[in-house]
Amino acid sequence: MPHANLKLNEPTGDQVRETTCYMCACRCGIRVHLKDGRVRYIDGNPTHPVNRGVICAKGSSGIMQHYSPARLSKPLLRVGERGERQFREIEWDEALEIAAQWLGDIRARNPDELAFFTGRDQSQALTGWWAQQFGTINYAAHGGFCSVNMAAAGMYTFGGSFWEFGEPDWDRTKYLMLWGVAEDHDSNPIKLGLGKLKARGAKIVVVNPVRSGYGAIADEWIAINPGTDGLLAGALIHQLLRTDRVDFDYLVRYTNAHHLVIRAQGAPDDGLIARDAEGSPLCAVRGGQIVDATQPDTSPLIAGEYTLPDGRRAVPAFQLLAERFLADEYAPENVAERCGVDAATIRRLAAELARTAFDEAIELPIPWTDTHGREHASMTGRPVAMHAMRGISAHANGFHTCRTLHVLQMLLGAIDTPGSFRYQPPYPRSAPPANRPATARKPDGTLNGNPLGYPVSPEDLLVDAKGAPRRIDHAFSWAYPLAAHGMLQSVIRNAVAGDPYKIDTLFLFMANMGWNSAMDTAHTRKLLCEREAGGDYKIPHIIYVDAYDSETVAFADLVLPDTTYLERHDCISLLDRPISDADAAADAIRTPVVEPDRDVRPFQDVLLELGARLNLPGMADAHGGPKYRDYADYIVRHERAPGLGLLAGWRGADGASEGKGAPNPDQLARYREHGCHWEARVPARGAFYRFANRDYLQWAQGMGFVGATGPITLQLYCETLQRFRLAAQGHGAMQPPEQERARVERYFDPVPMWYTEVETPAPFAGESRSREAPVGGGTSRTDRPHRAWGPHGAPGHGSPRAGEGNAWVSPGNDDFPLHAISQRPMFMYHSWGSQNRWLRQIATRNYLYANPCTLAEHGINDEDWTWIASPRGRIRVQVRAHAATAPGTVWTWNALGKKRGAWKLDARAPEFVDGFLLNDLIGERDASGTYSNADPVTGQAAWFDLRVRLERDPQPQVPGHRVELVERDEAVPSP
Ligand code: SF4
Repeated sequence: MPHANLKLNEPTGDQVRETTCYMCACRCGIRVHLKDGRVRYIDGNPTHPVNRGVICAKGSSGIMQHYSPARLSKPLLRVGERGERQFREIEWDEALEIAAQWLGDIRARNPDELAFFTGRDQSQALTGWWAQQFGTINYAAHGGFCSVNMAAAGMYTFGGSFWEFGEPDWDRTKYLMLWGVAEDHDSNPIKLGLGKLKARGAKIVVVNPVRSGYGAIADEWIAINPGTDGLLAGALIHQLLRTDRVDFDYLVRYTNAHHLVIRAQGAPDDGLIARDAEGSPLCAVRGGQIVDATQPDTSPLIAGEYTLPDGRRAVPAFQLLAERFLADEYAPENVAERCGVDAATIRRLAAELARTAFDEAIELPIPWTDTHGREHASMTGRPVAMHAMRGISAHANGFHTCRTLHVLQMLLGAIDTPGSFRYQPPYPRSAPPANRPATARKPDGTLNGNPLGYPVSPEDLLVDAKGAPRRIDHAFSWAYPLAAHGMLQSVIRNAVAGDPYKIDTLFLFMANMGWNSAMDTAHTRKLLCEREAGGDYKIPHIIYVDAYDSETVAFADLVLPDTTYLERHDCISLLDRPISDADAAADAIRTPVVEPDRDVRPFQDVLLELGARLNLPGMADAHGGPKYRDYADYIVRHERAPGLGLLAGWRGADGASEGKGAPNPDQLARYREHGCHWEARVPARGAFYRFANRDYLQWAQGMGFVGATGPITLQLYCETLQRFRLAAQGHGAMQPPEQERARVERYFDPVPMWYTEVETPAPFAGESRSREAPVGGGTSRTDRPHRAWGPHGAPGHGSPRAGEGNAWVSPGNDDFPLHAISQRPMFMYHSWGSQNRWLRQIATRNYLYANPCTLAEHGINDEDWTWIASPRGRIRVQVRAHAATAPGTVWTWNALGKKRGAWKLDARAPEFVDGFLLNDLIGERDASGTYSNADPVTGQAAWFDLRVRLERDPQPQVPGHRVELVERDEAVPSP
């Protein structure tokens, strides 16, 4: 009981201002309490849709982020050598003049000589548009280094994504599987949701090699081996197919399961969906008739082989899926050892999923209209939800793993049905979304679109006439065709190598590539300092923008100091990474709550001013002056398309419109009056089945989220992938160069698959690509898979089979038998909290955590100092025994270890002395040295594929962190 005289609600300051947190990616609403103009206290905004008043330790520690000694305070110009941290302070005018000179020269010469890359969640709606107006194709944010596999697999499969673009139906789900979810992402919403599940007694299953935060409250922890999530999901699919526990009605209504796939080995249409003259996909119905698959009220067949009206043979897409996953390779007993999950557990999990989805189905009395105009009195729910994050994504097999998970959801009827995974507006969009990466410049020098997008055919790639990459990071090349978020991790290496060409300026915004936003970190820093024979740096200019004195600052030629998040406007836009939840579209702003006390400027203001100085279209007025006063002005007045701006709330001259409408000069004032956020509720009839729900799609079209109200077909079979595969097989005008064909053919399988995570691009084995696998014939959709195909269906042609692929496996796993992963600390979002005095009290250094059995096998004791080695080198670290780590895996917190000299930390700071960075052991190249260490479909950095061994130190009690890399790039001496 609180003391009677204790006044819990005493004002903490003399003013309270509302804005949006930026201590992690959740974007919670906060109230900043000020006293005499200084920040005294931060708490959660109870009216905010994201957190409803909840604040976490990171969020309330924003005070120390704002007053951090590591803040930059003045523009800096390098005077020493790169890496020496020797700068002279300059005025903003000089800084902008220098930047405008470098950038202006580039734009006049060749805009692609600018590589503009940003860290996460950094106003991409602005930065992407700025790059487009500048005219460089070399733009991206950090998604390629983070979780593009998650985004791309989702967008190509069902027009949505896990991550922050969808959520479990927290109010109704009875069974939640969390796959590789770290606590740093979507933190407060997930915590609030898990609380609801615990209160209702719903089962929570966590699939993760480490039982960290969410795992601690889960009902079951599946201690999976890293990189095998797709194999486990495939085994669950195998089991569901074998036991007939599949939602066939859902499949034929909402997915392309029944669409006929042409079987014409060697023909240019092999593997494509058969279509009629109007372009509608075809399906077979009872009696073997071939009809338009999009027509309602048919009973399509999903098994068998059929003859099309023109004589070609075709099979339903579901047939191919069943052939793949009914194969023995996906049988629980055949994946158990590899996954680290016993077969009985896999079978039980599949049975629990099926029982919950089908035997405990729910029915909501919500009437709705489907896209065919049919009225439905209720909505059927499959109360099984999945959520996944970086843990399944950051592997070279992550794209297919994510797709496998989505297929598992589809088989259970568990995408956007009551109790399952739900889209958050503005999703769903077409699968894949309509935007393609820009490929050309217009006469005014701007690109013909955003530099990033979703290719749907080889014609969308950025390659030259010989098939070589056009982008500096090789995104959208034949090596990484669907690199929808770019490949931040490859930029520096390629720029230094001049591969495919030299650049002039590397322009980075909060992308700490001198440390934890790079693989092979020490080597990356060395590359930043590499010189031509004549003495010039190989990357002639580096402009770096940050609010803090991070490791990368030391390598910049020009440093532009940003404000803290409490000193600037920001826009959390539906054009970017929205804060919607499943029931409401929402966006928000940050608004300055204090004035900067240093000579710093918001980066967005600086970017717009640079644009005006460069006379970029859309940023300069007719007289050559700035079109926008500052970013706040841009937020209000800029229109991406007529009526479509960065903020969706209070649009129109009178502020009465939502979604679309003319700019409203008072828009920001309205947001401030409403706690800096806006939301619009999804109509009740549009609550679920949004991919086929006319009520929802009409609302979404009115809001500007979708262009049309037709159904969005879920892609059980991804025809887009087949188009690339056909090109690799020699069809079409755009084909990969000879050396890329095998790789594209192998990985662009339209049916999800699993392959081992560490690969070398050895020559393709060239096994038969016959589609003559034995299949059942003439079965109706009520025929069950195990009857139609038998238990030993053949895998899709040309695909590696689960567990197969030794010809592709990097040699050396015997030498490096352990998996090594890192987790973002839940108490420090990425490394942003490392200089935060309050958060540093939680941890100032990291350890290497390993299961006690793993340590015992190596003769290593808890708290010993030992070596962790990869092919790249070795690091001496202190270990902690951790029973909540899967045997065979070691892990650490990411980026607690710091580079000496950065972040204004004391030279004796534990971050320098004891902490370490696992990235030093992760090669940027794959084992062959030919390709990036990345997913071959999307270019996603495969940093969770790291394999290591522990080497016992003969003097384990002697403290001392050291780094010994193979090339001896850097040795950090013992303290
Ligand atoms: S969860 Fe993230 S956004 Fe929300 S209060 Fe915590 S740090 Fe801030």
